[in-house]
Amino acid sequence: MRFVAIVLYQFESMKRFFIVFLILISVRVVVAQKISISLHNELNLQTVLITPVKGQYTIVTEDGNFALSPNQIVYISRAGDSVRVRDMTSNFGTWKRISIVGQTDDDAIRINSIVPSYPARIYDDNLAFYVDFNRLMAINIVDIDKYIAGVVEAESGPSAHIEFYKAQALLARTYALGHIDKHKDEGFNLCDQVHCQVYKGRANRNPDILKATKETSGQIVVDGNNDLIVAAFHANCGGQTANADDVWVTPQPYLVSVLDSYCKNQPSSNWEIRIPIEKWREFLIGKGVAAQEMDPEKFEFSSKERVYNYVVTGVKIPMTDIRNAFNLRSAYFSVDIVSDMVRLRGKGYGHGVGLCQDGAMQMARRGRSYTEIIQHYFQGVTIAHYTEVNGFDEDINIVDSE
Ligand SMILES: [Zn+2]
Ligand SMILES: [Zn+2]
Repeated sequence: MRFVAIVLYQFESMKRFFIVFLILISVRVVVAQKISISLHNELNLQTVLITPVKGQYTIVTEDGNFALSPNQIVYISRAGDSVRVRDMTSNFGTWKRISIVGQTDDDAIRINSIVPSYPARIYDDNLAFYVDFNRLMAINIVDIDKYIAGVVEAESGPSAHIEFYKAQALLARTYALGHIDKHKDEGFNLCDQVHCQVYKGRANRNPDILKATKETSGQIVVDGNNDLIVAAFHANCGGQTANADDVWVTPQPYLVSVLDSYCKNQPSSNWEIRIPIEKWREFLIGKGVAAQEMDPEKFEFSSKERVYNYVVTGVKIPMTDIRNAFNLRSAYFSVDIVSDMVRLRGKGYGHGVGLCQDGAMQMARRGRSYTEIIQHYFQGVTIAHYTEVNGFDEDINIVDSE
């Protein structure tokens, strides 16, 4: 009996060991998820200078590796269809592709573009360089949460509450996973421009940003069909968000107008511009208003709430058309006449769809959680782990041109 008991005990502890072991493996897989981002995707990069600033780096080439010392300066230039690597004193060689690989899990490296000249930025994790599209390609192969933190910092600044950063992290992650193949044909996942999501490298202005991203690791936002949502956000809604189909074409059941009392009295809450009456007349004639109907009193228009159209003498003009034509901060405004000028007085900043950043920051300051923030601005959505989403499994499909 005693023997059996020992065997059973050993079996139980083995089982426990295996369960712990499996959990460690699955956590490890999630932590190790990387994504490839093309850096300075808008520039025609020819020469950059790189400098390790944290951790330990090795240059990996097909002929062998070179360990870099801290703060060593290395030039990487395009030479025809290859990449030339040298430092202050010697030429390392020329290859089709090189990788610069961090060795410690907390590695950071500075890239300073020399041709063309551009201010230096610091990136987490690994880099790859090769020539394509007649330029030096600089790819950051980075832990997805560090990338998300960089995006959150670029999109929302360094002085918000951590629950706001969690909400913004979920939106950035939802977008990234929803567009993971956007640049697949070019050999990477996403670019660092507004075309995908603005990413200026390592988040280093507020430790709460990376903390918020890690504490929500893997979490995304799904709609009622368990599909990733369109993760729209804007600076300030002016007190009421917009319906997606009033701004873009496609309606979404979760992107519907909601009242927002949280974003008032912020720098972006109100705006005003004045337009010469003649210029306004010309615009209206272009939109089909009859020239004889141009009594300025008829231009006046008050919108207590967001409306789709500005109506003048029975002609309906979408507010978004006016926003685009006059480069307005928002499509939520009233019109009146003040001393021979047309005065537009508006609310908010941005397209108004989805999460209002000023409102979300205020909600977080007042103790609301990131879940409450997301569910306020996106109606009927759920927060899930990406592995539970239609079309996703454990491994994110990293695109790497190697
Ligand atoms: Zn892009
Ligand atoms: Zn708002």
